[in-house]
Amino acid sequence: MQKTVYTLLNFVLPNRCIICTEYLDIESELTHVSVSLCYECWNKIEFISHTSCEKCGGNIDFDGAECRHCYSYPFAFGQAKACIVYNKNSQKLFFQLKHHANDSIVSMMGKWMISRLKSFEHNHDIIIAMPLSRWRLFSRGFNQSSLLLYEIQKQKSYSFIDLSHKILRIKNTPSQGHKCAKDRQTNVKGAFQACEHSFKGKSVLLIDDVLTSGASLNECANELLCKGASRVDVLVVGRA
Ligand SMILES: [Zn+2]
Ligand SMILES: [Zn+2]
Repeated sequence: MQKTVYTLLNFVLPNRCIICTEYLDIESELTHVSVSLCYECWNKIEFISHTSCEKCGGNIDFDGAECRHCYSYPFAFGQAKACIVYNKNSQKLFFQLKHHANDSIVSMMGKWMISRLKSFEHNHDIIIAMPLSRWRLFSRGFNQSSLLLYEIQKQKSYSFIDLSHKILRIKNTPSQGHKCAKDRQTNVKGAFQACEHSFKGKSVLLIDDVLTSGASLNECANELLCKGASRVDVLVVGRA
């Protein structure tokens, strides 16, 4: 019965891969993952193994070390963990998350984050979605990091308090893609403002979709530490 419904549905509304837009053969391809992805695209997603930089979560060739970036520009946050590599194979997933709040992608990424969460060496009292500026939030209509945070919170075994509303992004920073590391840091200086009293002595987990240069996450962590947080860690889906 279910098979007949699927076949009919596929005839009326053919399902296409979210990344390469190829038509999917529902019977053979949709069973391996809840998101519309063909086998080929699914296999190209690179999951980050345990051999990642201790500090920033980037892929490196050997375990338990810091990458060259972290050696020369140490981040303010304690540890960052990522689930997959952000590259040309996976970027369409992030586009769908950021611009269309695609439900099945949010749920899939949430599951990845929950399993990555277990690898942190410290527990966290507070969880925060990386804030967007008021203008960005108004034009997009939602914060993709909040969607991921809600997905993690559905897992009842974690008892973090969500204090995302206690920190604001007061400066909207344009795309940083072309800037060098030093300029990126200057560009985001003073971009965040956290509540004076909420974070004292608390360990915080910051949630975001992607870590690229890490300049914004670093500045946000800096602000939380300035307001007395005992520690700030970062959990993202993609690591560029
Ligand atoms: Zn595909
Ligand atoms: Zn690193």
